[in-house]
Amino acid sequence: SGALPPGSRLPSTRALAADLGVSRVTVGTAFAELHGGGLVVAAVGSGTRVAPVLPTAARRAPTPWDDAWAGRPQEPDVVAFTGVGDPAAYPVAEFGRTVRQVLAREGAAALGYAPDPAGDPSLRRTVTQLLASQGIGVPPESVLITSGSQQALALVCQVLVRPGDTVVVEEPTYDLALRLFRTVGANLVGVPVDDHGLRVDRLAEVLPGSTLLYVTPNFQNPTGATLSGPRRRELLRLARAHGVPVFEDDFAGDLRYSGRAIPAIKSLDEHGHVLYAGTFSKLLMPGLRIGYLVVDGPLRPRLVETKQVTDLGTSLLLQRALDRFVTIGRYQANLRRTTRLYRERRDTLTAALAEHLPGATFTVPAGGLFTWVELPPGRRSDELLVAARDRGVDLASGDRFYLDPADGLRHVRLNFAVSPPARITEGLARLGYSQRK
Ligand code: PMP
Repeated sequence: SGALPPGSRLPSTRALAADLGVSRVTVGTAFAELHGGGLVVAAVGSGTRVAPVLPTAARRAPTPWDDAWAGRPQEPDVVAFTGVGDPAAYPVAEFGRTVRQVLAREGAAALGYAPDPAGDPSLRRTVTQLLASQGIGVPPESVLITSGSQQALALVCQVLVRPGDTVVVEEPTYDLALRLFRTVGANLVGVPVDDHGLRVDRLAEVLPGSTLLYVTPNFQNPTGATLSGPRRRELLRLARAHGVPVFEDDFAGDLRYSGRAIPAIKSLDEHGHVLYAGTFSKLLMPGLRIGYLVVDGPLRPRLVETKQVTDLGTSLLLQRALDRFVTIGRYQANLRRTTRLYRERRDTLTAALAEHLPGATFTVPAGGLFTWVELPPGRRSDELLVAARDRGVDLASGDRFYLDPADGLRHVRLNFAVSPPARITEGLARLGYSQRK
C-alpha cells in the first residue's frame, strides 16, 4: 500500500518469489488475496497491476480483518483496537470453579435441555435484580433469556419485520444490527447521532409507517454517545404517538466510568412499548452467549415460541453457572475490576489521541468500549485502515456503521478496552501522523 502508485505493474510471481525467498505458491496466495480485496487487477498478457482506482472501503470485499467481532487471534505484535473486552480480564479460574460447583450440586440436571425455553427461572429472577441499576422494575416473567442480545434482536426481527418494512436506526449504528436488518429485507432509514445520542428532533419525519425503532442509548456503538434523559422521554412519547415499537439495545449499560446512570427508556415505559435487551458479553464474557430481552404483552408468546423452535433454549449449564456467579457476588466484583481497568484505558486513549492524532476530534464516552474519532480534513478512514495494518494496528473504519458506507470515511472507531495502557499508547504512536507525510 502506498509504495507502488495505482496502475503500476507488479513483478512476476517467479521474480517476486526469487526476490523474497519464498515459494511461488506463497506469492500466488498473496496475489489472490490482493485480488479478492480489489487492490490489484490481472489481465491476460499484461500481468498483475495495482488497481488503477484503489477500492474505497465501500467497495472493498470483506475480509476476516473486517469483522471486528470475529475473535480472530491477534498476532502478538498487533495492537488491537477491535474486539469486545480484554480476554485477560475474563475470570477464567473463578468461572471454572463456579461451573464445577454447579455440576457438583446439580449433577446431570444441569446438563439437560432448559425445561423452560424462556430461560432458567432463577437466572431470570437474578436478571431482574440487575435491571434495577437501569431503573427497570419488572417481574421474572417479563424476562426472556437469549443467546446474546444479538439473538434477542434476531427474534424480534423474525416476529415483527417483513421484507420491505421500515426499520429506523441511528446513523451511525452497530454494524451487525444493520447486517441483521438487511437479512430480513428491511428498508433502513437512518437518523443522525450527535454528542447526546440520537437526534430525537428528527424522528417525527421518519416514524410514520415504520415497523421498528432500533436504538442504543448508552455508550452507543460506535460513537460512545449517551442519549440524554430528556431525549429518552421524547423518543418514547413520539414512538408511542406513531405506534412504533422501540428496541432498546443496552449492550454495556453497567460499564460506566463517569457520570450518573440515566434511567433506561424501558423504565419510563408504562404500556409495554419498549423491548429492552441486555447482555453479559461486555460486562462479563462474550463466549457465554447469554443475553436477555424484557418483553410483555402479545409479542411475548410469539417470541418465546420462536426462541424455542430456533435453538430449544440457551445452554442450561451456562445459565445455571452464570446465575450462581452473580448470586454469590463474583459477577459484581468482576464488574468493579473491569470498570476500573477500562476507565484507565479510556483515559489513556484520550491522552494518546490528543498527542498523536493532532487535528482529529474524538468522543470521550462516559462508559462502554468505544471512542469515535473524526479524522482531520483530507484524511480518509479506509486509507488509515490500510496504513494501520501495515504498522500492526487493528481498528474499525467508520464505513461499516453507515447505511451508505461512503458517509463513514471520515471516522474510525477505536475500542479502548482490549489492550493494556502501554499498548494503547504504542498503537497510537504507530498511527501518529508525525510518522507519515
Ligand atoms: N448490540 C451492540 C450494540 C453490540 O455492540 C453487540 C455486540 N458486540 C451486540 C448487541 C450483540 O452482542 P451479544 O450477542 O454478544 O450480546
